[in-house]
Amino acid sequence: MAARRLFSTCSLVFREFLVSKPGMFAKVIDGKAIGAAVRREVREEIQQLVSAGHRAPCLTFVRVGQDEASKSYVSGKSKAAREAGIKDQTIVKDEDITQEELLALIDNLNKDDEVDGMLVQLPLPPHIDEKTIVNAVHPSKDVDGFNVLNIGRFSSGSPYLLPATPAGVIEILKRCNFDTFGRHVCMVGRSKNIGFPLLTLLHSDGTGDATVTICHRYTPPEHLPICTKMADFVIVATGIPNLITKDMIKPGAVVIDIGINRIKDKDGKTQLVGDCDFEGISQVARAITPVPGGVGPMTVAMLLQNTLTAWKKKLSKQ
Ligand code: NAD
Repeated sequence: MAARRLFSTCSLVFREFLVSKPGMFAKVIDGKAIGAAVRREVREEIQQLVSAGHRAPCLTFVRVGQDEASKSYVSGKSKAAREAGIKDQTIVKDEDITQEELLALIDNLNKDDEVDGMLVQLPLPPHIDEKTIVNAVHPSKDVDGFNVLNIGRFSSGSPYLLPATPAGVIEILKRCNFDTFGRHVCMVGRSKNIGFPLLTLLHSDGTGDATVTICHRYTPPEHLPICTKMADFVIVATGIPNLITKDMIKPGAVVIDIGINRIKDKDGKTQLVGDCDFEGISQVARAITPVPGGVGPMTVAMLLQNTLTAWKKKLSKQ
C-alpha cells in the first residue's frame, strides 16, 4: 500500500537504537549510532559501485569568508565525506566576492561532470541573496535540498534530495520503528529549512500520513501546551532552551528535540542543550532524543546519503 511507503522501505529495524537508562522511563534514541549506521551503509554502497568500475562520487563545498562556525561545519562534513569514500573539494572565496561571481562559480560546477553534489555553506555575507544562490545550484546536485525545485518535489509528494536535518528526523523515526501513520504529530517551529520540510513530510500522503499541528512564534503561549499534550510525537526546532517541559507531554509520546543551544551552566561552563527539558520529559515520554547525540549526528549522515543518491542517479543515466 503506497501510504505505508515511508516506514516500509527500511528493511532493518534496529531496536538497539533505543537505549534504556537507569532511573529513566523513556528510552534514549541513540542518534550517534543511527548516524553511524547510515554512514556505514553509504560507504559500503560506494565501495561496491567503485569496485564495479565506477569513479568515486565527488562532493564540492563552496565557502565564502572566514566565519569560524562555517569553517568548522565544512571541515566536519568534508572529513565525513572522505571517510565514506566520497572525493571532496572545498572552494573558499573571499568575503567580498560579488553575487555575480558566486553565480558564475556555481554555474561552472553545475556544468562540471565530475561534480556530483554541491553545497554552498550558509550563511553568506549580507550583500549576497541566499535564495538566489541556493536556487542556482542545479537540483540534481543540490545535496542540501534547498533548491526550490527540490522543495516543490517533496511538497507535492515526490521527494528526491531532502534537506538533511528533516531527512535525519525521518530516518530516526524509521529506524526506531516509530510509525506516524494516522497518529498526531505536533511540530513546534516552522522554519523553511527544518520545521516546514518536516511538517510537510509528516502529513504527506504516502510519507508520514500523520495529523500535524504546527506551532510557531505566534502560537499563544497558553495554546502551545494544549497542542503538544494532544500529540503522540512532539518534534521541536525553535532554538529556545527549555521551551518544552514534562507537563506539556502526553505520557508515552515520542519527543524529538532538534534544537541546539549553547548556554552557561551554574559554574559558567558552556553547555549544549536542546529545546526540551530532557530530564523531566524522560520521566513521561516513551522515547526522546538527547542533545547532543540525537538529531545532530543525522544531519551529516543524510548529506552523505544525498550525495550517494545524486551520484547513483547520474550513473543510471550513463
Ligand atoms: P529558526 O530561527 O529559523 O526558526 C525557529 C522557529 O521556531 C520558527 O519557525 C519560529 O516561528 C519558532 N518559534 C519561535 N519561538 C517560538 C515559540 N515561543 N513557540 C513555538 N515556536 C516558536 O531556527 P531553525 O533554523 O529552524 O533552527 C531551530 C533549532 O534547530 C536551532 O536551535 C538550531 O540550532 C537547531 N538546528 C539543529 C540542527 C541539527 O542538526 N540538530 C540543524 C539545524 C538547526
